[in-house]
Amino acid sequence: MQAWFVKRMLLRQFVLHLALGLLAALPVVHAQTREGVEVGESSVFTKIVPADRVERDASLQYQQTLTQAAKQHALGPADHPQVQRLRAIMDKIIPFTSPWNPRAQQWKWEVNLIGSNQINAYCMPGGKIAFYTGILNKLQLNDDEVAVVMGHEIAHALREHARERIGKGQATEFAARIGGSLLSGLLGIDPRLGDAVAQTGANLVSLEFGREDESEADLVGMELAARAGYDPRAGVSLWQKMAANNKGAPPEWLSTHPSGTTRIADIEANLPKVMPLYERTKKSASSESGNQ
Ligand SMILES: [Zn+2]
Repeated sequence: MQAWFVKRMLLRQFVLHLALGLLAALPVVHAQTREGVEVGESSVFTKIVPADRVERDASLQYQQTLTQAAKQHALGPADHPQVQRLRAIMDKIIPFTSPWNPRAQQWKWEVNLIGSNQINAYCMPGGKIAFYTGILNKLQLNDDEVAVVMGHEIAHALREHARERIGKGQATEFAARIGGSLLSGLLGIDPRLGDAVAQTGANLVSLEFGREDESEADLVGMELAARAGYDPRAGVSLWQKMAANNKGAPPEWLSTHPSGTTRIADIEANLPKVMPLYERTKKSASSESGNQ
């Protein structure tokens, strides 16, 4: 065959493939428009530290926290009604986590109750959750509100906000070593971050996240709660309870989760995206129980 003919045939094949590819891509793109909240791409800093290392560190720190709590007789036993309640809520949320992070399928999820007056709860990388008795008792949280708090904390873990902060800390430290604040400025990171996170080694229990990570966790958390069959409107009553409890000294959770009218307004603005998910789960649960 002559070279021009081969070239033309290849070109024709290429065009055909391109057209078929575009056609095939169309329904896929359509299928990818998902229901629920919208959040952006993960930060580039997330990839600096390997996920399994962060999860291993978190697991060690979690075990240390539990051992310490047990020594002080402050670890809720498995037959404690509040522990059973927390575990039931966690079990309903877990099936909806992996679309946010495929690693979550392998996580060894755990939730424990720690006896402390602090209004606090967290989920460490790898799915290690803790609730303090303070947040349940002082705020008298109903199941929907517990699910919203848990969803929010789980969202931090799924979106790897801790890994992102550690990555940022390491990048800052690296920048400081080779060129100081100029590179920090170029990368758009706070030069003080390096001291707080990279040098001391991250304390994964009490990490403070930025405003963007917080609003992302609010949104992903309310979607998780809604899909699991918990009323996402509880996000509003939760923050109202938090604010009302903030009269004296600010509760622990509130110091890392600054409240504000914008927070409640954002939650309210996103309710229409997650209410249909909640209503669907409720409906299928009630028709299932009706069939029994
Ligand atoms: Zn948070």
